[in-house]
Amino acid sequence: MRLQFLGGTETVTGSMHLIEANGCRAIRDVGLFQGRRVESNERNRERSADPDTIQHVILSHAHIDHCGRLPWWVAQGYKGPIHATSPTAALTPIMLRDSAHIQESDAEYLNQKANRKGEPPVVPLYTKADAERAIRLLKPHEYHTRIELAPGFAFTHLDAGHILGSALTVFELSEGGRTARVGYAVDLGRFNLPLIRDPEYMEPVDVLVMESTYGNRRHDDAAHAEEQLLGITKRTLERGGKVLIPSFALERAQEIVYHLNSLIINGRLPRVPIYLDSPMANAVTEVFNKSREYLDEESRRLYASLGCLTCPDWVFPSISVNDSKAITASNKPCIVIAASGMCEHGRILHHLKHGIENERNSVVLVGYQASYTLGRRLQEGETKVRIFGDWFTRRAEVAKLEAFSAHADVDDLARYAQKAKPSKIYLVHGESEQREALAERLRSEGHANVFLPKKGDEVIL
Ligand SMILES: [Zn+2]
Repeated sequence: MRLQFLGGTETVTGSMHLIEANGCRAIRDVGLFQGRRVESNERNRERSADPDTIQHVILSHAHIDHCGRLPWWVAQGYKGPIHATSPTAALTPIMLRDSAHIQESDAEYLNQKANRKGEPPVVPLYTKADAERAIRLLKPHEYHTRIELAPGFAFTHLDAGHILGSALTVFELSEGGRTARVGYAVDLGRFNLPLIRDPEYMEPVDVLVMESTYGNRRHDDAAHAEEQLLGITKRTLERGGKVLIPSFALERAQEIVYHLNSLIINGRLPRVPIYLDSPMANAVTEVFNKSREYLDEESRRLYASLGCLTCPDWVFPSISVNDSKAITASNKPCIVIAASGMCEHGRILHHLKHGIENERNSVVLVGYQASYTLGRRLQEGETKVRIFGDWFTRRAEVAKLEAFSAHADVDDLARYAQKAKPSKIYLVHGESEQREALAERLRSEGHANVFLPKKGDEVIL
């Protein structure tokens, strides 16, 4: 029996793990590595394990750094099932089709350049057809159902409380009279997030593989997110401005709509138009609307009174480009939620271009902003910013709301490890500073065997 770390160990993207017992070989997650172009291109084309020799893929959730390389993996010869929870099986097609579109248009753009320089053409990592082939392999399962993939090889999904459909995986392995319970808490969510249920603790495991994204950080309480959002939104609307919210299309956009709806029905915000200006976020919202049984009780109550997230007459799902242009052109106070979350592409750029020089408006950052992105520049207070090649003077108020995060923080992670009672802990999915800080914390709390594996490392059970 063995485990191997194939990706997403010293970084927070490109998650991939091999689990092998009794002749059965399975991969948990085939995630896209996201970083600088050349490195990403190299890493995302690594075979890591031979797809022909893998019988099963187990998918933890629909974030692209966990599912985004599946089409490539299938194009390389993987033919087995992709096991996921029902909501993940519904969300993953939206993510993979979007990703394939990005891969194809990136390659097209690079090929125009390559052509001019007489260089060989760039082949996209995968195509829309590859994505469709991967989508056909998705096999939905329910949480808490023990799935036996082969003799001596079973897994159960628990709720990870990270995004809709996200799962923690507990493997029960046996071979030659030996047994092992191995738990994967990658990604692990937080308590009190809106919409979704809280993370579930595992029955004790022998080995715990755990994320460490925020191994050295404490978040503001998730319950404060709504108050933070209320403050800036109210202030902006009172001065007659627009609230522009760059957001990831999956989960964060729905969280924001949820919070705004609950502020409006509780009479704490006026009934201003809320535009969900993103075809992808609207497609994801449809999945939320159809997945009520997976939501927490509070959300089910809100659903019962409103009908659905986008049902109230103050919420406007915007799909067409013309809808989007009309919202951009209007100067009436409103709230606009649009992708991308780091202001790198997508409709948010049009809203920023038209609204960033108006001191009545505000830009509300509700997600992680990576270095060198427009979102990061705004977060750092820059007043001269470039959008679509033109320079703008930023006069709109910029707010970064710290309570929004879908990942466990250091206290959540330490508590999780205490409850799972593992004899060995492997920390992955974190930058080195975060992983080391968490390892130190866990050792100080009595965990004697905490390891920081490198990509390619193996554990023999
Ligand atoms: Zn995730």
